[in-house]
Amino acid sequence: MTTSRKKNTTLSATKGTLPRTIKLQERREAKADTGKVIVVCGAGGFIGGHLVQKLVNDGYTVRAVDKKPQNFWYQRSSKAQNLTLNLEMYENCEQALNGADLVYNLAADMGGMGFIELNKGLCMLSVLINTHLLMAARKCGVGRFFYASSACVYAGYKQKTTDNPGLCEADAYPADPEDGYGWEKLFSERMCRHFREDFGIETRVARYHNVYGPHGTYDGGREKAPAAICRKVIQAKLSGKKEIEIWGDGQQTRSFMYIDDCIYGTETITASDILYPINLGSSEMVSINQLVDMVEKIAGIKLKRKYNLSAPKGVRGRSSDNTLIQKELAWEPSIRLYDGLEKTYAWIHNEIQSGRSEKAIVNVA
Ligand code: NAD
Repeated sequence: MTTSRKKNTTLSATKGTLPRTIKLQERREAKADTGKVIVVCGAGGFIGGHLVQKLVNDGYTVRAVDKKPQNFWYQRSSKAQNLTLNLEMYENCEQALNGADLVYNLAADMGGMGFIELNKGLCMLSVLINTHLLMAARKCGVGRFFYASSACVYAGYKQKTTDNPGLCEADAYPADPEDGYGWEKLFSERMCRHFREDFGIETRVARYHNVYGPHGTYDGGREKAPAAICRKVIQAKLSGKKEIEIWGDGQQTRSFMYIDDCIYGTETITASDILYPINLGSSEMVSINQLVDMVEKIAGIKLKRKYNLSAPKGVRGRSSDNTLIQKELAWEPSIRLYDGLEKTYAWIHNEIQSGRSEKAIVNVA
């Protein structure tokens, strides 16, 4: 892969930034008054739950859909129409999308590295969700469709060192994505593209880089690094056992995006005319050891680190190159990791201390 980043960015970005930002804002404000139905798929999960809250608070008419029974949703809004449907099945997709104007597809069988490395078949089955949703979107006349892709689409050979300069959009090809989960995401991205080109559905795709924040998974095997580290530090503190297990040697690097940046970026990309899959992630790259340093500082504790070198650890280095999103939207996720971790740590601490399991739902009026 020899194409330069500069060249690809120029190809994908089309117009100046300021007018586009203003246009987006106008379009979003105008849409809030329409009363048209917005469907959030995967609404019982982490990002879907936050998106539903944001949309209902902004006055939209929202239909929230997830396959989990509703008492297992991470957040549930009484202002939304809440449906329990398995979206792997086409008929259920049609029911979910009937009368819809806009669809956010955040539904997937997924988790952190511990889950996706050991459940490749399950991850790939999520292809049924996006495929059937797109088919139903076509049948129901849905105008716009957002798909949540992932940094796991990026080629493994671009992520072999800890000093990764940041993955830009062109780094997904020639394809060598994360086995299972990443292949499903890459295929579904292309499915969105071809449904736009062939059938005129305005599809938009963001490649999320590690999202974290309150109301997410923090135990049970699907949790990602920030929530897992917060939980382990809290447990070490509460138990008095001043030790923490870290997967790998702790030198692997990542970037983490706080949920508020994710929701803003998701809505903005959806309202935009950006036709290509685009990075939505933070460019603040840290090693896992540095992530642990931050959580220890928040907790006011120092722990003995035990490195588990046989645990799943994913790629060696990954971060988000935000050249394209900066050019398109004059914006990029910028909530500092330490600030987001403080909020996430406080929420997980409260959940653990109050004895609630991660499955406890929060009803918001
Ligand atoms: P999550 O696991 O918290 O939420 C996903 C939800 O989808 C769950 O509530 C699950 O029950 C639901 N779901 C799964 N299969 C379904 C089906 N057949 N029918 C209906 N609902 C179904 O995950 P999340 O962190 O909120 O992620 C949302 C989306 O963003 C996913 O597509 C994920 O792959 C993508 N993504 C997330 C991250 C991240 O860091 N959280 C990173 C990259 C991409």
